[in-house]
Amino acid sequence: MIELQGQVALVTGAGRGIGRAVALELARAGADLVLCARTQAQLEEVAAEIRTLGRRALVATGDVSQVAPVEAIVAQALQEFAHIDILVNNAGIRRDAVLLRMKEEDWDEVLQVNLRSAFVCTRAVSKGMLKKRSGRIINISSVIALMGNAGQANYAASKAGLIGFTRSVARELASRGITVNAVAPGYIETEMTRDLPQKAREWIQERIPMGFLGQPEDVAKMVRFLSAPETRYVTGQVFNVDGGMVM
Ligand code: NDP
Repeated sequence: MIELQGQVALVTGAGRGIGRAVALELARAGADLVLCARTQAQLEEVAAEIRTLGRRALVATGDVSQVAPVEAIVAQALQEFAHIDILVNNAGIRRDAVLLRMKEEDWDEVLQVNLRSAFVCTRAVSKGMLKKRSGRIINISSVIALMGNAGQANYAASKAGLIGFTRSVARELASRGITVNAVAPGYIETEMTRDLPQKAREWIQERIPMGFLGQPEDVAKMVRFLSAPETRYVTGQVFNVDGGMVM
C-alpha cells in the first residue's frame, strides 16, 4: 500500500542503523527523502537504495545540532522538493561514563547532538509545515529516558528532554494540523549497541519479555505508522518499541 506518495521526509542520522531503516521504510511507503548526517559516503549508499525503489533522495551532509548547516540543508531540500512533510529527528550519540568520571565535554556533546539538534531541525522545518497546515514530526527518544541507566546520565537526560520537547511542541502545533510524537526504542542491534560486552547483552536480554534485541526495522515500522495520514489524531505521545521492556 502506497500511503506517503507525494510526501517528502527529512531524516537525520540517515546513514546507518535506525535512521537508514526509517528512510528506506518511508521510501517504500512512497515518500521522497532528504538524508542528513555527517558521513557523505554512508548517505550516498542509502540514497542509491532509495533510488532503486523509484523514489528521489537528496544527500545533505552536515552537523544537525548546528543552526547554519541545518538552515542550509532545509533550504537545499526546499529548492529540490518545495516542501517537507515529515521530519524524523533521529541523529544521536552516546558517551557513557559513571557520573563521577563523566567529563563536561561528554555531557555537552550528548545534549547537543541528541537534544539541541531536535530543537534546531524542528524550528527550521516547522515553518513550512505551519504554512501548509500539516506535518509529522517524530523524535527518536529511548527507553533509557523512562528507566534511567547507570553510566548514561547524559544520554538519559537528553532523551528525557526530547520527551518534554515533544509534548510542548505538540501542544504548540496541534491546531495547525501538525502532529509531534516520540518513539522510544529499547535495545536495537546497530553500531551504537554493537560494542556491548557479552555480559551486558545477556543481562539486557533477560529483562526483555520478548527475549531478543530489536532490529532497526522494528522502529522504522512505528515511524511509518506515525507518518501516515491515518494517525492525524495522535499527538504528544511516546511509543515504546522495546519487546516489552518498559510497561
Ligand atoms: P548509529 O550510531 O548507528 O547511527 C547514528 C546516526 O546519527 C548516524 O547516521 C550518524 O552519522 C548520525 N549522527 C550522529 N551525530 C550527528 C550529527 N551531529 N549530525 C548529523 N548526524 C549525526 O545509531 P542508532 O541507529 O543506533 O541510533 C539512532 C537513534 O536511535 C539515536 O538517536 C539513538 O540514541 C536512538 N536509539 C538507539 C537505540 C539502540 O539500541 N540502537 C535505542 C534507543 C534509542 P554520522 O556519524 O555520519 O554523522
